[in-house]
Amino acid sequence: MIKDFEYYLPKATEQALTLFSKNSAYKAGGIDLLDLLKENIVSYDSIINLSGIDSLDFIDTEIDLKIGAGVSIQKIADSQPIQKYCPALSESASEIATPHIRNIATLGGNLCQKPRCWYFRSKDFDCSRKGGKVCFAIDGENKYHSIYGNQDGCAFVNPSGMATVLTALNARLQILTKKEIKTINLRDFYYLPAEKLTCEHKLNDGEILLSVTVEKENLLRKNYYCKIKEKQSSDWPIAEICIIGGINSLGNFENVSIVLGSAAPIPWRMIKEEKKLEGLQATTKYIGNVVESSFSDANPLRDNAYKVKLFRTLLYRGLCSIAGLESER
Ligand SMILES: Cc1cc2nc3c(=O)[nH]c(=O)nc-3n(C[C@H](O)[C@H](O)[C@H](O)COP(=O)(O)OP(=O)(O)OC[C@H]3O[C@@H](n4cnc5c(N)ncnc54)[C@H](O)[C@@H]3O)c2cc1C
Repeated sequence: MIKDFEYYLPKATEQALTLFSKNSAYKAGGIDLLDLLKENIVSYDSIINLSGIDSLDFIDTEIDLKIGAGVSIQKIADSQPIQKYCPALSESASEIATPHIRNIATLGGNLCQKPRCWYFRSKDFDCSRKGGKVCFAIDGENKYHSIYGNQDGCAFVNPSGMATVLTALNARLQILTKKEIKTINLRDFYYLPAEKLTCEHKLNDGEILLSVTVEKENLLRKNYYCKIKEKQSSDWPIAEICIIGGINSLGNFENVSIVLGSAAPIPWRMIKEEKKLEGLQATTKYIGNVVESSFSDANPLRDNAYKVKLFRTLLYRGLCSIAGLESER
């Protein structure tokens, strides 16, 4: 049984902000929020539905790419400018869940959804993420859990496919607070368990995610996205990668940004590999060398060492694609 709650449908973000009180939650598409309510993992005194706020539903490509937090995942997948300038973003959107879910789920909700770890989602496990003492995934069923960032008491993976691509694109978030509109870089938005164990991101209570901006300069770089699923029809990723980057006139890698999804509790940047690639000649030999030396710092759990192999293949294929080379793997 879901606990009774007050329900509000404001027409403007300022009104939503005012309606928010001590134990309230915002709802966008409700795909994640309603699941959590039905499972009694969360309960609230009031729910404020943001889906009646038109100002959150826009895609603007005039200067940079700016997407309102209320835009549906399907709209992102279908947007022609996004398909043209950033196929990685539209591919990632079109790979999320099912058509029905994509039509309802929003960008804001996708970025702010809670962990999909089965221990977190079950009332039977008082896990560390819910304030308990133990992460049951560390020694339990951890086939789908993290290989990075899992040594500080929680091993879930960040569930957002949009976050993987938008982190690689170095996107910025515009957030409405009671005092101002502030900007946070998506790369700084999520907490690792070591920083905060029971909270995923840096939105404070009541703050509203308004929009996400990607600078045109980043959109114009080459991009690669791939999601590996256990089944071909709609499924969560078991490994996901986005690479944004360029090749300079000498044929060397330049400004490469690599982000893994389903690898860690945050979109996982491969900063060491990015540095190794800077100025490196883009040949299959050099790419192979970088890939061979990667993932030595990963910490796979009992059931998920297979992810390291998958990620190595994705990294190799992605870098070859950015370099315009045929992948041999
Ligand atoms: C079967 C299934 C398969 C899925 N597969 C994938 C997948 O492959 N990849 C993937 O990325 N996702 C996947 N998802 C997750 C799905 O994409 C998310 O649940 C959905 O995007 C959430 O969006 P929503 O608008 O429904 O959010 P809601 O459920 O409404 O909200 C989620 C959270 O975000 C907060 N929130 C929402 N909007 C705002 C805002 N503007 N400001 C402040 N806070 C806000 C809410 O308060 C809530 O905490 C899957 C889900 C299901 C059920």
